[in-house]
Amino acid sequence: MTEESPALYVVPTPIGNLGDMTQRAIDVLRQVSWVAAEDTRHSAPLLKHYGCTARLLAAHQHNEEAAAQQVIARLAAGESVALISDAGTPAISDPGARLVARVRTAGFRVVPLPGPCAAVAALSASGLTESHFLFYGFLPTKTRQREEALRAVATLPYALVFYEAPHRILETVEALAAVYGPERTLVMARELTKLFETIHSCPLGDALDWLMADTNRQRGEFVLLVSGAPEAGDDGEGERVLKLLLDEGLPVKQAAKLAHSITGAGKNAMYELALKVKKD
Ligand code: SAM
Repeated sequence: MTEESPALYVVPTPIGNLGDMTQRAIDVLRQVSWVAAEDTRHSAPLLKHYGCTARLLAAHQHNEEAAAQQVIARLAAGESVALISDAGTPAISDPGARLVARVRTAGFRVVPLPGPCAAVAALSASGLTESHFLFYGFLPTKTRQREEALRAVATLPYALVFYEAPHRILETVEALAAVYGPERTLVMARELTKLFETIHSCPLGDALDWLMADTNRQRGEFVLLVSGAPEAGDDGEGERVLKLLLDEGLPVKQAAKLAHSITGAGKNAMYELALKVKKD
């Protein structure tokens, strides 16, 4: 960070474990003149903890345009600003995106710092093997809109990543099972980086029972991840042909490739399945 070149620094903060604050985040918070915070009162203890003496300005979802003008004025005066949210990465299901857009349009540098983000942390430990994921964030809270939103991404062969609050976890998991069917995998990543961190993976059809079996399992903050839609042609035929080929003694790679060519089932899915069959 150089004081000669003012910039807006987008600074992630911990999602539950103070140890996840990066050294660079601490350095930036100590060096900037201003911190734009989602909730200045909420962030004051964290900033104090790291010896940040910058002045604070509020940048939340209801004042983002006005906050952007304040930030641009500070940058124009040659002062750097750090943007933080209550927890995790700003602009990811948090305020900040519009502010960043205005600052970029005004021609100032925006510097992202990598760091805590619940979606990325959950995905990295989910065991989902899709090559792609779709970050959805929060679903609509009304039943019909939520169902429409779920249907809109139902056929994508990507892992789907949702954020959910504890008081809606049961109804959301129920909606996921209703729209995506009982067989797709659901990973519930709860209280990440905290004392009661839990990452549970099961078929969507079993998820509600698992949550109901112990009310503690419904507590805290959740990331919900759903495995991607089965690829076209994956109607069980791929698996049948693959097993025949493996039984005939074909090597994993060749059997997967042939099963894919013959049935149209996903190449990666066939390869993963072939490895699993061999191992079992
Ligand atoms: N900007 C944040 C980020 O980078 O992850 C997300 C903020 S959003 C307002 C809050 C939601 O993130 C929660 O409702 C929950 O879905 C998810 N979340 C935040 N912290 C979490 C944690 N420790 N464990 C699981 N999910 C978490």
